[in-house]
Amino acid sequence: MNDTKKFNYTDILGWSISRYEKFLNCKRQYFYDYYAKFDKETPLEKIQFLKKLTSKPLETGNIIHDIIRDVFKRYQKSAKPLNKDKFLKYSFNITENYCCSKTFFEDYYEGEIILPSEIYTKVKDILENFLNSSRFAWIEKNAVPQSSEWIIEPDGFGEFRTKDYKAFCKVDFLFPVGDKIYIMDWKTGKPDERKHLKQLTGYALWTRYHLAKNADDIVPIIAYLYPEYKEKSAKVDDRSISEFENLVTGETEYMYEYLANIEKNIPKDKKEFSLTDNAVLCKYCNYKEICSPR
Ligand code: SF4
Repeated sequence: MNDTKKFNYTDILGWSISRYEKFLNCKRQYFYDYYAKFDKETPLEKIQFLKKLTSKPLETGNIIHDIIRDVFKRYQKSAKPLNKDKFLKYSFNITENYCCSKTFFEDYYEGEIILPSEIYTKVKDILENFLNSSRFAWIEKNAVPQSSEWIIEPDGFGEFRTKDYKAFCKVDFLFPVGDKIYIMDWKTGKPDERKHLKQLTGYALWTRYHLAKNADDIVPIIAYLYPEYKEKSAKVDDRSISEFENLVTGETEYMYEYLANIEKNIPKDKKEFSLTDNAVLCKYCNYKEICSPR
């Protein structure tokens, strides 16, 4: 099951949920994120530095994803239960390393001192929710025997094709139980029903493409880990997948409209990428230093 299809590199734009969200939210932010080297006003290094700024919520999610990834990789080596003390110490070390090696938005723009111990307080709460969830116990009991077939954060960005368009949808954790394929997506932020339902269908499409599974046999689940453990799943069938393929086609074509050369993924001039008038988005935007928000 670990044999997913491989692709040669091409320049052409690849659709993803996060890319299209960014495109919709603010065209200029999208330009900075994806086409920085075409900016004639701001040095590339500056844009890249700002792009890499993390934030407390973002980094918390990042830390949790990596720790949960490591938990399941560990279960692939041994079915023994986790040693909780060792696990929490490991989790604290990861939190400290990540926090110390990154520049935080809150520090860069607001001078806030970021304490790893503060981030860890929330990380620990989230991990407790995860470890105490009925889903974790269920996975330990039902999925661990087939752990050699698990796909845990596969390499690359989750590339696939839909109607010949390049697309990306990276699964966090995919595993078989019985004749079903389960896909888990861990969330540490607030539920966003519209976006997350879209993601669930995207995971099903990715799985159908790479593993040739029927839609009925794919069970994609979003797991909200905070403030308490909650799940959301969606019934995917051939019809919802087909509608989703049409959606990806339309959204990709819309992003193509901002390109001067589609094959080479060269953007039109930066001035074509308009600024949002959403003041809240600007307040929390990494690029506000080099942009002129309203
Ligand atoms: S500061 Fe506002 S307008 Fe400028 S890139 Fe960011 S979100 Fe867009």
